[in-house]
Amino acid sequence: MTTIQTHCTACGQQLMTAIVSNAGQLCSSCGKQGLFRKRIIITGITRMNQGNICVSGIDPATWRFVRPLFPSGLHRDFTMESTTQVINHFNLVEIEFKKYRPEQIYHTEDWIINENFAPKFIRHLTDTEIIGVLNRMSIVNLDQAMLPQDKSLFIVKVQKITSIWDEISFGKFKVRMNFIDQSGNNYNSIPVTDLLTLAFVRYQKSKGNNNYSTELMNTFNNNAYRYIRIGLTRIFQGQYWKQVTALITIPDLFNGRSFSFYENQIGGQV
Ligand SMILES: [Zn+2]
Repeated sequence: MTTIQTHCTACGQQLMTAIVSNAGQLCSSCGKQGLFRKRIIITGITRMNQGNICVSGIDPATWRFVRPLFPSGLHRDFTMESTTQVINHFNLVEIEFKKYRPEQIYHTEDWIINENFAPKFIRHLTDTEIIGVLNRMSIVNLDQAMLPQDKSLFIVKVQKITSIWDEISFGKFKVRMNFIDQSGNNYNSIPVTDLLTLAFVRYQKSKGNNNYSTELMNTFNNNAYRYIRIGLTRIFQGQYWKQVTALITIPDLFNGRSFSFYENQIGGQV
């Protein structure tokens, strides 16, 4: 499958000439500029190795996904401004970008950002605005959406989650789930790297609630707006693995709480 780039990845303006490429293209003026600030709608905060995190969002100027990266990796502190979690789901946040650095397969969303500019909170989106974003950006068939290999981030409209469980694997606390997308495709044993879900499950277990899985599944499955954010890993053992990077419902499944809220309750990091 070929993908044709017709608009600038940074500003959304039409390119002089369309280009056949999986990765986005910059127009000549965006290609020349140095640092520039952009407002991003945050859609995912996930756990990586060595205490690092991965943040992703949507650029409302171009309706493309964006993954801000530091060359050295993003630390948890990046999400916080003193005790407030600025980088939180569906917050509009200003970030200073340095350079578009896409890969040619799947990971076309990567931008190097300026680590010396603290992300600035603008506001939290209203439920109506969030519904607008979901209607615009969601897909119903994950298998099909992966075919062009031009994205690694997806918002998947879901029929239902059929199972959620936790386990310790290689000494690490993990949560996995099975779900069915709107088109009926089954996805099994997909690891959850969403910091919020991980912290929420750890918190439930610390309270002795071993029924959290059924409760969470029922609340999710009975909501009219059911979406799972999926991110693909970098290539590992010859594959790009799916990960659950957020559970999205309206109203919010976690009552607007952040991962830092639950980590504070359990007194440690997940
Ligand atoms: Zn441009």
